[in-house]
Amino acid sequence: MNKEPVSRELFDEVMVPNYAPGSIIPVRGEGSRIWDQDGREFIDLQGGIAVSCLGHSHPGLVGALVEQAEKIWHLSNVMTNEPALRLAKTLCDLTFAERVFFANSGGEANEAAFKLARRYGWEHTGPEKHEIISFKNAFHGRTLFTVSVGGQAKYLEGFEPAPGGIHHADFNDLESVKKLISKAKTCAVVVEPIQGESGVVPADPEFLEGLRKLCDDNSALLIFDEVQSGVGRTGHLYAYEMYGVVPDILTSAKGLGGGFPVAAMLTTAKVAASLGVGTHGSTYGGNALACAVAQKVIDTVSQPEILKGVKARSDHLRKGMMDIGERYELFSEVRGAGLLLGCVLTEKWKGKAKDFLNAGLDEGVMVLIAGADVIRLAPSLIIPDTDIDEALERFEAAVKKLTA
Ligand SMILES: *Cc1c(COP(=O)(O)O)cnc(C)c1O
Repeated sequence: MNKEPVSRELFDEVMVPNYAPGSIIPVRGEGSRIWDQDGREFIDLQGGIAVSCLGHSHPGLVGALVEQAEKIWHLSNVMTNEPALRLAKTLCDLTFAERVFFANSGGEANEAAFKLARRYGWEHTGPEKHEIISFKNAFHGRTLFTVSVGGQAKYLEGFEPAPGGIHHADFNDLESVKKLISKAKTCAVVVEPIQGESGVVPADPEFLEGLRKLCDDNSALLIFDEVQSGVGRTGHLYAYEMYGVVPDILTSAKGLGGGFPVAAMLTTAKVAASLGVGTHGSTYGGNALACAVAQKVIDTVSQPEILKGVKARSDHLRKGMMDIGERYELFSEVRGAGLLLGCVLTEKWKGKAKDFLNAGLDEGVMVLIAGADVIRLAPSLIIPDTDIDEALERFEAAVKKLTA
């Protein structure tokens, strides 16, 4: 087996240059701590971008993975499998959903959602009813369809022509949706309850309520992209519960596998009926290993004490960041919900989020950014309070050096 030492330099020699990873190569993780090749230790407030919801090497997840690995790994969708059926049943029991489609990534779950919405419009109304309304700055994935529905033009640059019939309204602005929506043409409106990639911007409750009503009035499906906001991140299993607004389709990924690639599209029986046999599929979707791990994630995260713990940890982390922000006049606002927080840099530090990320690494704390002006935190949902305290100390040390 090839076990030669590898360095960051090798990345540039053998990898497609679409990423620009940092120089640290982590090799081991436990809970909210990570160690790199040289044994340097970090506190992880990145959580793999809202993925590692139960931290690293969680014994329950390791156990679920190993137990399933010793039984059976993969069956094609010509067969079904026990873990997939159990997980689908659990997701239906715990949410509005009556039907589940499994995929492997957030982008794929959204691809399925958008295809389903078109197919549903086509079947119930006709080919005219194919338009999708999404929002500026939205992020839905990197396939050609999802990047087209997403609201960041730069991600589409050079990849056109894009699929047609997609309109972008302004987030948190119902009037802008009213101008675009129509009963004849709109098949779906898709929204992130909290826009993650573009800066952790929560939807106003009235906005989501208004979208629900507009969709009902125009016979359009309401799709919630909960790839980032789902699986306990907000202190609710899914953010739609926090808002009290129920979508027709919901997509889940990131946290769902706690670090194992798996995604799901949840919907009602009526809407699901439009994806009949042969209309859509995925070789790995519903993979037994992935579903066994996701089952353990959902069983764990859905426990009331875990969800309550997210709110307590959120208060702790938010207060700590706000205090640091105040002492160094750093943030105009700390926004978000649960353990998805965005610390918005003041005018003076605008464009400098990456500098804080790098300064944090020097002090042994990993934070994320969301755009150039926002420091984003998405740690494990069960991060110990002592790790939060230590992470805050390390971050403050980084801030002190950077602002000196
Ligand atoms: C990360 C993300 C996606 C894309 O998920 P992938 O697994 O990278 O395809 C889609 N929507 C939202 C809201 C996300 O945060």
